[in-house]
Amino acid sequence: MRKNIVAGNWKMNTTLAEGVNLAKDVNEALKGFTPNCDVVIGVPFTHLASVNAVIDATKLGLGAENCADHKSGAYTGEVSAAMVASTGATYVILGHSERRQYYGETSEILKEKVALALENNLTPIFCIGEVLEERENGSYLEVVKTQIEEALFEMSAEDFSKLILAYEPVWAIGTGKTATDDQAEEMHAFIRNVIAEKYGNEVAENTSILYGGSCKPSNAPQLFAKPNVDGGLIGGASLDAESFMGIVKAF
Ligand code: PEP
Repeated sequence: MRKNIVAGNWKMNTTLAEGVNLAKDVNEALKGFTPNCDVVIGVPFTHLASVNAVIDATKLGLGAENCADHKSGAYTGEVSAAMVASTGATYVILGHSERRQYYGETSEILKEKVALALENNLTPIFCIGEVLEERENGSYLEVVKTQIEEALFEMSAEDFSKLILAYEPVWAIGTGKTATDDQAEEMHAFIRNVIAEKYGNEVAENTSILYGGSCKPSNAPQLFAKPNVDGGLIGGASLDAESFMGIVKAF
């Protein structure tokens, strides 16, 4: 059966010292209790190795927030999937709307990133989601379906089964405006159905689909109670160990 997962996305926040302290705080909070979900933190590239050194990998997963769409070579400033894996990280967030919006990441580019992540044994947390206009004009289901089809549906069922998906309505990210539990459930059930049509029920039922967008300790319990919501990708609230743990404990 699919896993429940709460994953943090620190984005471009924290200095190295602050990040290591935050990771230590989350790690400490996980000692002595077993959450009803997997817990992951997605941290800046610069922090990966140092954070890996202070966390208990059996309780807290570590991921990057991106990786390059090329294996290696003359790509100044880029960080490859192999480099990410070499730090001890085992997850990578890919296709976040901020990467799509500000850095021009297309489905073609993302396809390469996903393939390289898998080649390096990283679990992609693959983000999809519509902008406000698409929510309001009613095309949101179709938009998300296209994002999934374009970037992921050339994969084998075996490879697709290694992914985690994160539905993140762009209008809810960092805005304080959360999708209602019913809006999230409608989309998550739809996504699962899209997966089932392509890869069959077993793959669909085993795929974890996280919700992201202004998720916090106060709204997480309602969202996570929905049958197709398997956890959250958490931005702002993951920058404070107590609020992040509040969301972990929503399961
Ligand atoms: C995110 O960036 O993945 C996210 C969900 O951000 P926030 O929780 O701050 O809306």
